[in-house]
Amino acid sequence: MKIIHFPEDGYASNSYLLVSGGEAAAVDPSIDAEALISAAGENGAEIRLIILTHGHFDHMLSLDDLRDKTGAPVLIGAGDGGFLTDPTLNLFSQALGQNTAFAPAERLLSDGDEIELGEEKLTVLSTPGHTPGSCCFTFDGGLITGDTLFHMSVGRCDLPGGDGKELKASIERLKTLPPDLTIYPGHGPISTLEKQINFNPFMNGEI
Ligand SMILES: [Zn+2]
Repeated sequence: MKIIHFPEDGYASNSYLLVSGGEAAAVDPSIDAEALISAAGENGAEIRLIILTHGHFDHMLSLDDLRDKTGAPVLIGAGDGGFLTDPTLNLFSQALGQNTAFAPAERLLSDGDEIELGEEKLTVLSTPGHTPGSCCFTFDGGLITGDTLFHMSVGRCDLPGGDGKELKASIERLKTLPPDLTIYPGHGPISTLEKQINFNPFMNGEI
C-alpha cells in the first residue's frame, strides 16, 4: 500500500490517499478534490473509495466535490452515518456557520469489516469515543487513526456524541495492536504506535 499524506491546512484535517493495484482510496477528503484526483493519476490509480474516519466537518471539506468528480462511494462508521446529513452533528453549523448536509453514505461500516482496495485490504476497527461511529483502519504496516489517536494526544470527547469512557476503551484496544504499526492521524504528524504506547500520556498511564 502506498500512502500519500496531504498535511492539514487551515480548517482542513490531514487527508490521505491510499493506493494499491491501480485503485485509490481518499481518506478524510479535506483538501482540494483536484489535488487528490491528480495525485491518484500520478500514481497510476483512480479514486474508487472515499473513506471517512468520522463525520466531522474538517475531515470532509471537499467531500461533495470529490464525490461528484469520481462517483466513488462514501464509507463511514455506522454510528456516524447520521452526521453526514446533520449540520449540527457534523459541526459545519457551529464551526463555519454553514448549513452543510451531505447525501447519506453508500456503505456503513462495522467492527471487523474488510474493505478491498486493489491488491490489499483494510480492516475496520470500531473505536467510539470522539464520535459514536469513529473508526480506525488497519492495513499491512499501518493504522489510520482519525481523531481517536494523535501523536502525543487523543481526540476530544466533549463534542456531540462524544464519550470519555468509550474513548478510553478504544485507546486501550489500540494498545493491543502490533506496536510497529505506523499511525496516520487526522491531525498532527505521522508517528508509530510504539512511540504512543511509550510516550503518549493517554496511552502510557500518565493520564
Ligand atoms: Zn473530529
